[in-house]
Amino acid sequence: MAVAGYPYAEIVVDLPVPKPLTYAVGADETIVAPGHCCVVETGRRQIMGLCVARSNSAVIAEERIRPVRRWLADLAPLPPDWLDFTRFAADYYQHPWGQVAVAALPPFLRTPPGPRWPATIRRLRAAAPAAPPADGDSLSTIPPPLNTEQRVAADALSAASGFAPFLLHGVTGSGKTEVYLAAIERLLADDPQGQALLLVPEIALTPQLQARLRARFAAQPIVSLHSGLPDAERSAAWLAAHEGRARIVLGTRMAVFASLPRLRLIVVDEEHDPSYKAGDGVRYSARDLAVKRAQMLGVPVMLGSATPAVESWSQAMRGRYRLLRLPRRAGDAPQPQVELIDLHQHAPANGLTEPLRTAIAEAVARGEQALVFINRRGYAPVVACQACGWLSACPRCAAYAAYHKADGALHCHHCGWRSGVPRACPTCGNQNLRAIGQGTQRLEETLAAELPGARILRIDRDSTRRRGAADAALAAVHAGDTDVLVGTQMIAKGHDFQRVTLVGIVNADAQLVSHDFRAPERLFATIVQVAGRAGRSGLPSRLLVQTRFPRHPLFAALHRFDYDSFARSQLADRKAAGMPPFTSQALLTAQARTLEAALAFLAHARTLGLGLPAQAKLYDPLPMPLARLAGVFRAQLLAEAGQRGQLQSFLRDWLARLREADPPPGPRVRWQIEVDPQEI
Ligand code: ADP
Ligand code: ZN
Ligand code: ZN
Repeated sequence: MAVAGYPYAEIVVDLPVPKPLTYAVGADETIVAPGHCCVVETGRRQIMGLCVARSNSAVIAEERIRPVRRWLADLAPLPPDWLDFTRFAADYYQHPWGQVAVAALPPFLRTPPGPRWPATIRRLRAAAPAAPPADGDSLSTIPPPLNTEQRVAADALSAASGFAPFLLHGVTGSGKTEVYLAAIERLLADDPQGQALLLVPEIALTPQLQARLRARFAAQPIVSLHSGLPDAERSAAWLAAHEGRARIVLGTRMAVFASLPRLRLIVVDEEHDPSYKAGDGVRYSARDLAVKRAQMLGVPVMLGSATPAVESWSQAMRGRYRLLRLPRRAGDAPQPQVELIDLHQHAPANGLTEPLRTAIAEAVARGEQALVFINRRGYAPVVACQACGWLSACPRCAAYAAYHKADGALHCHHCGWRSGVPRACPTCGNQNLRAIGQGTQRLEETLAAELPGARILRIDRDSTRRRGAADAALAAVHAGDTDVLVGTQMIAKGHDFQRVTLVGIVNADAQLVSHDFRAPERLFATIVQVAGRAGRSGLPSRLLVQTRFPRHPLFAALHRFDYDSFARSQLADRKAAGMPPFTSQALLTAQARTLEAALAFLAHARTLGLGLPAQAKLYDPLPMPLARLAGVFRAQLLAEAGQRGQLQSFLRDWLARLREADPPPGPRVRWQIEVDPQEI
């Protein structure tokens, strides 16, 4: 018999259904409680489900209620605080609970018919956390003694009780990671079962940090959680966290949803990084959710960055986050000297101006390393016909296809379309087509011609596609086997290169003239990150930036590495313009076979929204900046309100209306909502 009075289970599944589904618990499952995983049937399909409540009445007729097919009884239930947290995230981001909660479970709990028990679970238990490597000595590395500012920061974090959000603003190389490690060390010592969650923006950063953690906490079980792991490894890591065996969980944004029954501390490194925002599905911000999770649990959370997000900075200025600072580099290595190269005065040849060429050659001659940053891969962003003006547009996107020299083909970086470069202009037949502009490959070629004998290394997505290629390339830089490193964002983050004394930014201007109000913030962060690779060993270093806008206020702040004044001016601009964090935004996007259909759908959505009691400002529907992607047209509508709560109640009503109302006639439209959009 089922528990008297509670014969039903409310089950959430990873499907776009607005409410939990009701199933019969089953006669012999008297102990089933919220948090248990199960297999259920919808239609003729078996899917994984998660019990979120027991109930004694069903909204559908009793004879239509099906029994739960199988309960995964060997797995401890997901804890109540985890259920609350995923529910909050689902509500906030306007998605069904199951599409957040079940979607956040590891592969072995997402694929029906579920783990074959109990052998699967036993195997996963045995697999993680991995024992400390046998070849390494099991002694912990001795941490450097913290400097005063680091000590103050680590002590503040350790002394905090209850919910306490901190913003750690530390210049690149100031030793933020040492602060996190010190706080984690204290936590592990004080609470024999406590768990710490350390989030990083990129998979590429996890092996390095994992090695550092392993070296430091040789006796502690540490696991990594990110999408680059093989399924079995990820499942084993998840289970170790869920069962409390893993004491430290290191992961990318998805790890914010890890089940951690004894979570006592959350750290978000490089908290400004756009990778914390999910790009598809539920568009959550792992940074924002980390703070919320800490608040719900009543534990401290530390956000660390050299260039905090303007939103986080604003929270610190309002006293909601406690600001901690590391104003100098550990070891007191000086910051690079910043010099702007005015492109009006120095015409570039193949992308490089005379002052930058000279500086690179000088650094190489001294036996030091130079790093040249450009945020475009490929050889050239576009191929053009000099006779008629034809440009190499992608046939499927509203964008140009870039020229890649290695395979002599045009590549669309948005949809992956590829095609050989035509022998002659498809429009006028002219045979003289030219590659226009600069990409990493062309820059590599130019530098090789310029500096015969110098060892030039390119690091971008193309050069590191092979597994292990990125690590090998970075190792070459560390080992001093490289004189000049050319690359994209991939070379900007986290790397502790010792002999780099010159950093060149080839082109900063595209982001200075962007329509996106966050573009200057992202540019400032990128330049500071790249610059942070220079002069780490204490050698004098330089940062050279080529630009057509040397008098832009961003550069005035950059000159002194003055993040404070930059953030202050950004906040003043945003306040004047009524932008976040002074307002809250959501973006409704529509995709259809024609642009007209996408825009018509948004016009219809706007009309529905204007008729609601809860109010938000609704802007006009517009084509998205990339208006056509892989053959699909895309348009967007921005909704804005003064307060988060106000926006939330508006969105609830609006989206409910939108789901119920008949769509306008015409081609089918797919739509999504994104709360707190980062790119507009
Ligand atoms: P961040 O996270 O701010 O970039 P890290 O914690 O990675 O900085 O530290 C940068 C470098 O400085 C590392 O090589 C680290 O070992 C070293 N370091 C950090 N703190 C100290 C310290 N107090 N004394 C000496 N070296 C330190
Ligand atoms: Zn032509
Ligand atoms: Zn394309």
